[in-house]
Amino acid sequence: MNDRGPDLTRAAALDLDAIRAQFPILAESIHGKRLAYLDNAATTQKPEAVLAALDDYYRHANANVHRAVHELAARATSRFESARDHIGAFFNTSREQIVFTRGTTESINLVARSYLQPLLQPGDEVLVTGMEHHSNIVPWQLVGAKTVAAPVLDDGSLDLKAWKAMLNPRTRLVAVVQVSNSLGTINPIAEMIAEAKARGIPVLIDGAQAIAHTKVDLSVLGADFYCCSAHKAYGPTGFGVLWARREHLEAMLPWQGGGDMIRTVSFDKSTWNEVPYKFEAGTPDISGAIGFAAALGWIDQLGLARIAAHEHELLAYGTEALKGVDGLRLIGTAANKAGILSFVLDQAHPHDVGAILDQEGVAVRTGHHCTMPLMERFGVSATVRASLAVYNSHDDIDQLAAALRKASRLLR
Ligand code: PLP
Repeated sequence: MNDRGPDLTRAAALDLDAIRAQFPILAESIHGKRLAYLDNAATTQKPEAVLAALDDYYRHANANVHRAVHELAARATSRFESARDHIGAFFNTSREQIVFTRGTTESINLVARSYLQPLLQPGDEVLVTGMEHHSNIVPWQLVGAKTVAAPVLDDGSLDLKAWKAMLNPRTRLVAVVQVSNSLGTINPIAEMIAEAKARGIPVLIDGAQAIAHTKVDLSVLGADFYCCSAHKAYGPTGFGVLWARREHLEAMLPWQGGGDMIRTVSFDKSTWNEVPYKFEAGTPDISGAIGFAAALGWIDQLGLARIAAHEHELLAYGTEALKGVDGLRLIGTAANKAGILSFVLDQAHPHDVGAILDQEGVAVRTGHHCTMPLMERFGVSATVRASLAVYNSHDDIDQLAAALRKASRLLR
């Protein structure tokens, strides 16, 4: 997947059984049924490679980083910092530009506090889109920016013409989701970045739903800030990355104070550590970094082109399968779409649908998916969302469709 869809020409088939065997949780029985895990946009399951990396770290290398001369501290520091090297290499960028955070949410809040707030003048705007996750809306509001949203078209794609027309001299930042978590829409971020940069406006990309499905090359993308979470890409929860242009990181002040982020401290004045450490106050999530690096290594081994091709085929299969369910309305049918099927069933509340699916072993998400303005745009309070990962199969989709036919009979 890229701005124009997956590159199918380079994609050899995946050995799905072998991939599934690497995820022990997929063998769980749910209410006596086979598990069809289709809640991957909320969080993905973790392969043996990640579980082993976490286990090995705690068994053989656990200590605090950067702070002691003993052997275990050296092991922990070396694994932690080599994780930063691996993560930087995965995104084709330098290690100094990889700031470790708790995830996409914290990364965006960091940019709001450290970058945007000091620049803000009355009337300044952040231009977002109508399909943003709350974490790409609320942080801007919290620092006092006027948050304006470009409209979403009926098929769930961005109204790019309207978005362009909304760029103006008061736009202090463009912030946009690369792949919508509620609709699957893939936004044309390369074009949007070029357009904003031509007007001298910096751009933040919310890559939470993108990095496990498409190659992200930060040295060519041209964005100013890129945010992502490990747990949506087969890594551990509570860990993520903020990437930023070096000049921004150098100019920005730290947003949290504490250990590790300082160079010197006195009661009169403190000075800051170098980038990226000045943004990493306190004991970091050491195993999170190690687990994320292992997850990205695992993705690399499979190859993102093959992952994207598999998910693309599954999305087409799933879209067809859902057409056979009475009363089902898909929300989000953009031509350029990632593996997300969001829908409502006539007259049935999504939570009731979700509860029936759960009884059939099918795990989906129901609710507003932290995109309340988008739900309002489509005139619904919630949807049912099935979201795909590389380990999903036709069996998962068939199980979903059968459970939905049952829900449709029971609830309508
Ligand atoms: N942005 C998008 C598009 C998301 O889907 C999510 C999580 O669902 C987030 C941001 C927030 O990610 P996290 O909760 O890992 O910080």
